[in-house]
Amino acid sequence: MQAFYADNFVLPLPQGHRFPMAKYRLLRDRLVNELPQVRMAQAPAATDGELALVHTPAYIDAITHGTLPAAAQREIGFPWSPGMAERARRSAGATVAAARVAMGPAGKPGEGIAANLAGGTHHSYAHKGGGFCVFNDAAVAARLMQAEWARLHRHERKPLQVTIIDLDVHQGNGTASIFAADASVFTLSLHGQKNFPFRKEASDLDVDLPDGCGDAAYLQALEHALDELERRFEPGLVLFLAGADPFEGDRLGRLSLSFDGLEARDRRVFDWAWQRRIPLAFSMAGGYGVNIDETVQVQVNTYRVALEYWKRWNP
Ligand SMILES: [Zn+2]
Repeated sequence: MQAFYADNFVLPLPQGHRFPMAKYRLLRDRLVNELPQVRMAQAPAATDGELALVHTPAYIDAITHGTLPAAAQREIGFPWSPGMAERARRSAGATVAAARVAMGPAGKPGEGIAANLAGGTHHSYAHKGGGFCVFNDAAVAARLMQAEWARLHRHERKPLQVTIIDLDVHQGNGTASIFAADASVFTLSLHGQKNFPFRKEASDLDVDLPDGCGDAAYLQALEHALDELERRFEPGLVLFLAGADPFEGDRLGRLSLSFDGLEARDRRVFDWAWQRRIPLAFSMAGGYGVNIDETVQVQVNTYRVALEYWKRWNP
């Protein structure tokens, strides 16, 4: 199974910054050691033109040159540096590359599943970032895959339909906003009702969960959400944000999912896509464990389940 990383592009943070940047490298090290069937490749950088499928030219330019107003930079939560800008491009490029591997290059059969070791930056809007998110990787991948698909299927009147299944504990507000008026992309977000962002956008399907929500209630809510997705939409590509922050040991999550509950969640999504033979690319999104090794463990478990399904696609 192909996976793309960008942790070697360092985003310098001041001492004591609360973002757990180390988790990306820890995840890559554990995957290399424990799941050698995950093939690692460095993520390509998303180009200006690719980013412009989603983001405004003014925002792309300001990120590239470090000219964002201070308040907008604070909203992102990272100080600007050339490394920050490059890292953000690579993280978007990783989800694009994963989606392309899953779908298949230029009309050839794809591998069905591929991954981004970072990404899931769903608080990013067309014109601004927020909540540790610079560019919206899933949104860029959705639009670019649609463009590439349209070039290969000129006779088709309908566009490639894409669903973004966002199971990070925070609402995918940027993603919801970007696709608010776009019927070809179905946005589904399961998130903590009382959690950030406090002003939420309208996804195609939002499921608000109460603080403390545990495995059984969560999995039931996911089941209902997938049923409704099935009734309302027929995707040709799934982009899955496998956030580790619904975990009970997360500092920011406020939910109470166990390791087993999160693994069951992932299995349900991979199985849902597999049963329908829909290619799927996934990203890691949030994870802020009190113990960072537990965040990484949740993510390693996601890869273990993903590999099972990748083997079904590629026997
Ligand atoms: Zn999150």
